[in-house]
Amino acid sequence: MIYFDSAATLPLRKEAGETYLSESTSCFGNANSPHSFGRESARSLERARKGILRLLGIEGTHRLLFLSGATEANNLALKGVARAYRSRGGRIISSEGEHESVLEPLKALAREGFDVVLLPLDPRTGTIRLEDLRDALDERTILVSLMAVNNETGAITPLPEVRSLLREHPKCYLHSDFTQGAFKGLPYPYGTADLISMSAHKFGGPKGAGFLALRKDVRPLPLMEGGGQEEGLRPGTSDVPSALATLKALELAKGEEKDALRIASLLRGRILSYLLAHPSDFLVNSPEEGSPFLLDFSLLHKKASVVEEALSLRGIYVSTTSACSSRRDLPSHVLLAMGRGKEEAKNAIRLSFSLLNQEEDAPRFLSALEEIMKETIDSL
Ligand code: PMP
Repeated sequence: MIYFDSAATLPLRKEAGETYLSESTSCFGNANSPHSFGRESARSLERARKGILRLLGIEGTHRLLFLSGATEANNLALKGVARAYRSRGGRIISSEGEHESVLEPLKALAREGFDVVLLPLDPRTGTIRLEDLRDALDERTILVSLMAVNNETGAITPLPEVRSLLREHPKCYLHSDFTQGAFKGLPYPYGTADLISMSAHKFGGPKGAGFLALRKDVRPLPLMEGGGQEEGLRPGTSDVPSALATLKALELAKGEEKDALRIASLLRGRILSYLLAHPSDFLVNSPEEGSPFLLDFSLLHKKASVVEEALSLRGIYVSTTSACSSRRDLPSHVLLAMGRGKEEAKNAIRLSFSLLNQEEDAPRFLSALEEIMKETIDSL
């Protein structure tokens, strides 16, 4: 098997699974219980929280809330901050290329009367133009939300430059969805953003676990009411085993970052050269300077769903657009935002790499692709 879908999810790391199991079965006390067994769980939860903040290099500036994943983190960051700081002004700026878990909450906020501005993507860089952001920022802007790494193309948002533009707007917070950027060789620190969303399963932690890190002064409103856990921002019995497994997975991801970058760059480089050498068949959508972990391209004469299925029959697993939207067979909103045509946006293949891959995966993938391109009669 060749697994080129690491941006969709990764398997649970063995050590994270062991941590989860041993914490669930031996230290299973409720972190809110007053007795010493419960207090032990509460201490473990704080150890996980501090450990993650330390790994991300933001222990002095940010705090952290354990949530069910990046979808929840994005919802809490956007709705929680927008509703808490509404009196400062109602403008929120984001981009057309964000993940659905940002775009859908933004639609909900627009229905509540917020002035939501979505910036288009530059076709060359796959990210926003800083001039567009500068023009959209005004004294009513309370929040800017821009993903660190695009989950389809791998385009990297220049967050330090965004931060510089925000210097003139000190009351505006910067949220960034770092789901595809956890220890993926990003050229800037996590603390560049005031609010940071991440999902554990993208770095080998448990599915259904993730977090939102927030700068100490940011006070969002909760989306749920209940028992007051996680500063009252995420009530419900704390999932201490998941929190510790998330810490373990992140530690391992950090330790492997260089090796993962090496294999991803190698695979991406080999496959990209092939695609660029066949411009009548393929259109590369990923920017050259994008994340080495992602490579997205459109098929100019074939249906992506047919090619994806043919690859799958050969044990090669790829995505058409992102895993979340590919089942709906819709054109990719990211590619449309980059100005690609509807057919190009519909017939895109996304490859994503990790340490589950080996060097030989590139030639094996390319010979399968070449074969399928010759065989597949189902043209557009
Ligand atoms: N943001 C990005 C950029 C993603 O790639 C994903 C996962 N596809 C999410 C958010 C949502 O993560 P989850 O499904 O784990 O909540």
